[in-house]
Amino acid sequence: MNKLERLGIRTDMETALHLPSRYEDETKLTNIAEALFRRIGHAQVEGVVTASEIQYHPRRQLVVFVSDGTSQLVLRFLHFYGSQVKQLAVGKRIRVRGELRQGYNGVEMIHPAYRIVDESTPLPVALTPVYPTCDGISQNYLRKEIGAVLKRLDLSDTLPEALLAELELPLFSDAIRFLHNPPAGVDENALLDRSHPAWKRMKFDELLAQQLSMRRAQIARRRQKSHPLEKTGELTERFVRSLPFALTHAQQEVLAEIREDMGRAFPMQRLLQGDVGSGKTVVAAIAALLAIDNGFQAAMMAPTEILAEQHFERLSSWMKPLGLSVIGISGSMKKKEKDAALSMIQTGQAQFVIGTHALIQDAVRFANLGLVIVDEQHRFGVGQRLVLRNKGDLHSAIPHQLMMSATPIPRTLAMTFYADLDVSVIAGLPPGRKPVVTRLIDQERRDEVIARIHAATLDGRQVYWVCPLIEESESLQLQTAVDTHAVLADALKGLSVGLVHGRMKPVEKQRVMSDFVDGRIQVLVATTVIEVGVDVPNASLMVIEHAERFGLSQLHQLRGRVGRGDVDSVCLLMYQKPLGETARQRLRTMRETNDGFIIAQRDLEIRGPGEFLGSRQSGQAMLRFADLEKDGELIEKAASLAEALLTKRFPDSDKIMTAHLTRWLDYREEFLNI
Ligand code: ADP
Ligand code: MG
Repeated sequence: MNKLERLGIRTDMETALHLPSRYEDETKLTNIAEALFRRIGHAQVEGVVTASEIQYHPRRQLVVFVSDGTSQLVLRFLHFYGSQVKQLAVGKRIRVRGELRQGYNGVEMIHPAYRIVDESTPLPVALTPVYPTCDGISQNYLRKEIGAVLKRLDLSDTLPEALLAELELPLFSDAIRFLHNPPAGVDENALLDRSHPAWKRMKFDELLAQQLSMRRAQIARRRQKSHPLEKTGELTERFVRSLPFALTHAQQEVLAEIREDMGRAFPMQRLLQGDVGSGKTVVAAIAALLAIDNGFQAAMMAPTEILAEQHFERLSSWMKPLGLSVIGISGSMKKKEKDAALSMIQTGQAQFVIGTHALIQDAVRFANLGLVIVDEQHRFGVGQRLVLRNKGDLHSAIPHQLMMSATPIPRTLAMTFYADLDVSVIAGLPPGRKPVVTRLIDQERRDEVIARIHAATLDGRQVYWVCPLIEESESLQLQTAVDTHAVLADALKGLSVGLVHGRMKPVEKQRVMSDFVDGRIQVLVATTVIEVGVDVPNASLMVIEHAERFGLSQLHQLRGRVGRGDVDSVCLLMYQKPLGETARQRLRTMRETNDGFIIAQRDLEIRGPGEFLGSRQSGQAMLRFADLEKDGELIEKAASLAEALLTKRFPDSDKIMTAHLTRWLDYREEFLNI
């Protein structure tokens, strides 16, 4: 079996599920006259060798003539062995399969596959499978191994027949045999685009296994212990009263869900979704206060230093007046500072800790962590989130977990990859927001853009200028940012123009950002470091240079930095012609809508789910057969059957689940558990 392991195949079931990527049709013969008439394409012919010779012009080659009575075909072998010359001797009957091409002297086949036959050799009745493989593993070897496994493996069904009839799905054994050896005459397109019922059965089984295992993980989580944080706190009340705005109805609803979760004796695992600017931070703050009110610590992790710093500034300005101890922790802290922070965290003096990945380092130990908040969760890997969660005292209790994301996840993705999470959505934006007006503008009209910047600053507004993304080279990107800054500072004399980019020291970054927040900088030239989270309501104009180079989600996130106050905001997407089709589509979408959900859906259509979620998280590798975009209907059906089985709606629900999971999890060891 060693050879198969090179293809990632370890068990018999995995062997059986190594399905063909395409088929060859050797079930039919074409007569040579017809093949010659067709001139191109693949064909299989059978005939007798009428002549065979080694030619030396222009190079050494074996040329064989075959005739089937209707006409004669030339076969040409540029590499050949002596044994082949014998095999292809005059008078031999051969079956030949290959690609027809127009040569100098008529139609011919170069290096066709052939075998010696006699007149009674039957044609195969099934299509010949072609398997995904790698160097050194032949199709013949795979066909033999797989054929043997299909004979010895138990292929009995995991699902009752009545259920299959209802779902209009074939038996598992029929489906899998069919896919390995489909009969001649089958609709090949349905096989190739995987819409054939046999394929549907494979996909359905895979999806059902995934749903079951994720839902089981959710049930297992309910058996873990957390401290119920049920005291409705005085701090929370005071905080809400001190806010300069009233919580929206949507925020209150989401908070009610979070409060209910946190009051339970098992860990909350809630994903809070809300479009860019919908006000997730204040919800997180209230959740943190709830933990603190109950005598526990809260921690919040953000993906970038700028964002962590901003959260720290904002949240401590909100919370310090309430007499709370909020501390920030970052990778760039001086040792002395950091040690002091670590000891405050460990003794429990620090009630709310905000930071970047620095939070998940070994040295960080909490006294009694009750709640973990992960902002912009899609930026983190599953592993990183788990580490933070495990910072609680694992033996007695696990902290509650709140994850936040502005990337709305389309329904089918949510159903498959987040099936074990509870999801809350902040629908809509806080009142008074005016939608950002988006304009596309040709690079050539840069002067007009500069004029608009002047106008905005005259009105007391601030401006972001986002530098082009240069994926190939980070240093080139930084250089561009530095150059752009110099050019703009020159063009905008009299205005204060700042620069922030990823390579600056954290303290410098911090200084620039706080100068911008406080209005000392009017125009901020930035790389995508400002992409997530940054919140400066007075900024009302955003210019994105070479917008055609950015992805849709990224453009939406960037644009979300404006339109946060009560003035009209504008986003100018500068592009350079000529635009490719995808870029044109993206820019058009940006101009047409501000709705994060629609944008995410389009992004998914353009990029596909793997890239959409980031490979780390998409678990795309988990789903080999199902296609999230095309198989929405199967996903729904699998989810509802999983639900029915888990709630024991059938007398033998347990038996079915065990059988199904054994077959499929044995095959894919572990489905993603967040
Ligand atoms: P995001 O959901 O993108 O993280 P933020 O939490 O940064 O959004 O909130 C965006 C802005 O909206 C902030 O300036 C915040 O103070 C403000 N905000 C939040 N909730 C409300 C509300 N209910 N009414 C008015 N403004 C709000
Ligand atoms: Mg945010």
